[in-house]
Amino acid sequence: MPIYAQVFLRHARPSFDRLYDYLVPPPLEGIIRPGMQVLVPFGRGDSLRPAFVRRLADGPSETKGPVTLKSIDSLVENFPLLRGDQLELCEHMAIRYATTRGEAARLMIPALTEEAAGPGGGRVRHVSLTDREAAISLLENGDVTHVNQIRIMEFLLDAEAPVAAHDLLTACQLTESTLVTLRRKGWIETSWLTEEPAREEPAAPLVVDPAALRLTPGQQAALGRLLAAYKGRGEPGPRVREYLLQGVTGSGKTEVYLRLAEAVVAAGQGVIILVPEIGLTPQMSERIQSFFGEQVAIQHSRLTPRERQRQWELIRSGRVQVVVGARSAVFSPLENLGLIVIDEEQESTYRSDRNPRYDARSVARLRVRDRQALLLLGSATPSLESRQRCDRGMSELLRIGERPAGARLPSVRVVDLRQQAAGGIEGLFSPVLHRAMTETFARGEQVMLFHNRRGWSGLEICSHCGAVVECQACSVAMTLHLGRHGRPDRLECHYCGLTHAVPPVCPSCGEAALAPRGFGTEQIESIFKEVFPGRRILRMDQDTTTGRGSHASILGAFRRREADCLLGTQMIAKGHDFPDVTLVGVLLADQLFQANDFHASERGFQLLTQAAGRAGRADRPGHVIIQAFATDHEALNRAVAQDYEGFYRQELRFREKLGYPPYSTMGTITVSHSSDPFAERACRSIMEELVRQARRAGLVGLRVLPPTPAAIQRLNNRSRWQLHLTSPLTRDIAWLFGIAAGMRLESGTAIGLSMDPA
Ligand SMILES: [Zn+2]
Ligand SMILES: [Zn+2]
Repeated sequence: MPIYAQVFLRHARPSFDRLYDYLVPPPLEGIIRPGMQVLVPFGRGDSLRPAFVRRLADGPSETKGPVTLKSIDSLVENFPLLRGDQLELCEHMAIRYATTRGEAARLMIPALTEEAAGPGGGRVRHVSLTDREAAISLLENGDVTHVNQIRIMEFLLDAEAPVAAHDLLTACQLTESTLVTLRRKGWIETSWLTEEPAREEPAAPLVVDPAALRLTPGQQAALGRLLAAYKGRGEPGPRVREYLLQGVTGSGKTEVYLRLAEAVVAAGQGVIILVPEIGLTPQMSERIQSFFGEQVAIQHSRLTPRERQRQWELIRSGRVQVVVGARSAVFSPLENLGLIVIDEEQESTYRSDRNPRYDARSVARLRVRDRQALLLLGSATPSLESRQRCDRGMSELLRIGERPAGARLPSVRVVDLRQQAAGGIEGLFSPVLHRAMTETFARGEQVMLFHNRRGWSGLEICSHCGAVVECQACSVAMTLHLGRHGRPDRLECHYCGLTHAVPPVCPSCGEAALAPRGFGTEQIESIFKEVFPGRRILRMDQDTTTGRGSHASILGAFRRREADCLLGTQMIAKGHDFPDVTLVGVLLADQLFQANDFHASERGFQLLTQAAGRAGRADRPGHVIIQAFATDHEALNRAVAQDYEGFYRQELRFREKLGYPPYSTMGTITVSHSSDPFAERACRSIMEELVRQARRAGLVGLRVLPPTPAAIQRLNNRSRWQLHLTSPLTRDIAWLFGIAAGMRLESGTAIGLSMDPA
């Protein structure tokens, strides 16, 4: 009797992404299994396409008349790439995120690149400059007009020898396309060389305070509840067993994660621990590694493709039981998953910013659903969505109140910049902050300064006509940056990376009247050196951590007391623990609340609370000084008072009144085209189609707002229009997204789909 297989294509358009029946040829009978990758003849020309086996069956699934089924051609690998639960996850994700099953599968298997396969002999592709002298003059003359290209060329100039392509791209956080462009211009060349062993950043010695290992009563109570829940995992209960561990910074959530994970591993199940970004939380991953040793696989963005492949193989083969990693580690192929932990669950890094725009928290819920597994979210300032799930009985709230070993919450002081304008030093350090910094340095302690704008200064404004210098490709103001000679003479677009020298005259009126406004981290660093001569400062922002620098080396230097002050953007607010930091200064808190979406207050509150939590972690009391103009801002004052409950209630009332998430699901469809009228027209026709389909299906509670230009209407020379949908039901939005994704649109039109909560 013939055996049949249902397969889905690895690469498909939404319109033909479905399960197809194929015959299993006799030689493959007994060998072929679900999750294996096969080649199948497809379409009229019977060209061979990669596909995944979804399931095997005794008969074809479709019985529409006599059809001659084609046979599977061959196997690609002799083992399944996808596990059974991952195949199910592909189905769920395809529906929820209006993507294809193959796109979802792509997230679960390592990208086998040419490097990973290699041309034999362990050689990998290396990159070097074609001509160093020419490269220097190209950079000096401002002939390189893109920040990404500048990063690569400067990296190669610094390197003594050719650099492995994957190391170069991961260090600069760029994709292959930048290399392609540079090669086409003839500025770089590639060669196949034997791979040098990867250089490891020397890890800071891990010192675990023995006091931290003794659980506080709060930790013990939370752990006890979780262990009981884990023991009862086989009993009837909710489909998703979800818990939210809420505890102030330093209250020891990590210890609870570790001990729960230990119990899960001891019971023979696997654990996934997600952290916002490995580079920003080295202590957390070191702690996990020292606890579990060889049993841990670490997934981070700086792994080479070959290392990534090796780690995936370790997990798939069951040789490790614990996986630590950023967002994409939620897809790890652990055989018998018992626990997913998501630390700092409110972080935006858990949301993918490219299609499919999934949220690791939602994917985690899909992975543990209907299984004997737990989901544990942790945060000092939980997202409104996750916290509200507790109020609605979909998750259980566990609180740890106290900080361990007598550590105290920092004292917080707000400085009103409106009353300081005249007396402030350079309008940047208020007398209060200046005095506190001086005293802290004098005591031999360290300071962290937090400012959420990189570059030299905000805008380049014409004092004659008031015009702002905008990017040629985007409708946004460019930012002034330090140039190659250490002077602020270069403008950069933070959206597309276009860069050029500051024009000598205003592009609008022709007057030589361009002047910078406001402060960025580069300028603050320079002012600091004038105001505090002899004090050493380190700067950590996107510009110092891509290319030649890295998070780990800056954080390591600060920890080793090689600087008195660490200045940075929001990346320094995350979970670092520096025992000698006793003062945190927030230079302009107003910035944290300025964003044009409904999440602005929530994000500002979270960032400010986190930043304040950085001061005084050990036995020394910490001080926080927050400078702001709008000192009466509600969320700011709640953060100052460390009043999460008050903020949560207040913000929830506001969301409810306006029908925003979590009281609804909001869908945003962004339509882009090089021509503005085309983009608008396409957006309108999508709206009409969705409204028609929604009426026909009788959807209840759906709201469709008319098309509007996106907040940044032109990006990278493409015009963008948006359509907003809200509905009480996530599945209705997902269904409409599926219709939009399958629509035939004018060529050159691109659409992006994003859901909130995703
Ligand atoms: Zn002008
Ligand atoms: Zn731009």
